[in-house]
Amino acid sequence: MRNEALLEELTQVFGVAGFEGEVREIIRREAGPYADEIREDAMGNLIVLKKGKDSPRKKRIMFAAHMDEIGFMVKKILPDGTLLLCNLGWNWTGSVYNSRVRFRNGTVGVVGCRGPIEEAKNQVGKLFVDIGAKDAADAEKYVRIGEPCGYMGPYVHLQNDLVCAKSLDNRIGCYQLLEALRDNDGSGPNDVYYVFTVQEELGCRGARPAAEAIRPDFGVAVDITPAHDYPCDLEGSNEVGKGVEIKVCDPSVVCDEQVVRVMEECCKREQLPYQLEVIDQGGTDASSMNLSHYGVRVGGIAVATRYPHCQSCVASLQDIEAGAKLCAAFAAWEF
Ligand SMILES: [Zn+2]
Repeated sequence: MRNEALLEELTQVFGVAGFEGEVREIIRREAGPYADEIREDAMGNLIVLKKGKDSPRKKRIMFAAHMDEIGFMVKKILPDGTLLLCNLGWNWTGSVYNSRVRFRNGTVGVVGCRGPIEEAKNQVGKLFVDIGAKDAADAEKYVRIGEPCGYMGPYVHLQNDLVCAKSLDNRIGCYQLLEALRDNDGSGPNDVYYVFTVQEELGCRGARPAAEAIRPDFGVAVDITPAHDYPCDLEGSNEVGKGVEIKVCDPSVVCDEQVVRVMEECCKREQLPYQLEVIDQGGTDASSMNLSHYGVRVGGIAVATRYPHCQSCVASLQDIEAGAKLCAAFAAWEF
């Protein structure tokens, strides 16, 4: 893989939904040498433009990869110094139980449960964080109400070119867009907007204002998607290591048929393994772009990921590379 150190760096920084600054600064640094224009909007979306050559068939293509990861926010500090949380995004209480979370100032805590975890039934209010404080006054030296915290999950290799880390959802997409930008020398026919969005995990909030500003001809969400090739409570065809996923449908969007066809054509030309993605839970920034302005034709490029939304997401490096190449090929397509 061309730049795995960058993928690792992206997964390890803090980027809980609404607090994406650390991720954004890495992307700004990496995109700088290759972009024609970089701007940050009021919500914190980073919009990176690479212009194409003059062409009567020129289109505006908007890629959207969300920078944010799921996490929590402190809602109450109890007299004993433990912290109560609310969700920033969809969390499984069973995944975070007895594991560590980190605050932006480096404070680390362990997540416990007020009562048996089996009875928490995914209610985040049953959890607490223990940062080792003696009492509330001690805790307040390190953390205050409204402070976000995120998962800790080091970047490690599993067998067969699989990697495991926190926030592969969606630093994979951020990495792929940076790679695709690097491969765009400006000789293609399209103006390409590589948009790194905020607050996707809170309901695809960032992509919409970005799409309103850009008014793209085509919008493509670049994200992860749940894998179905291991014992889990989801059913579908997504397999880790079997190639990049071309989104056809999820509960939030039906992808444009021409976009799907062009993506398949790109994969065939570039000899990239691919799968067709249909999921019946979840959604992506494709939905927000789809419903922006007077409607936008959209599609999605995804990487099948096991154990999404926890500190130990698992994905294939080969799928990640194939996705980056598909982004590059789609950006260069003459419509
Ligand atoms: Zn995601």
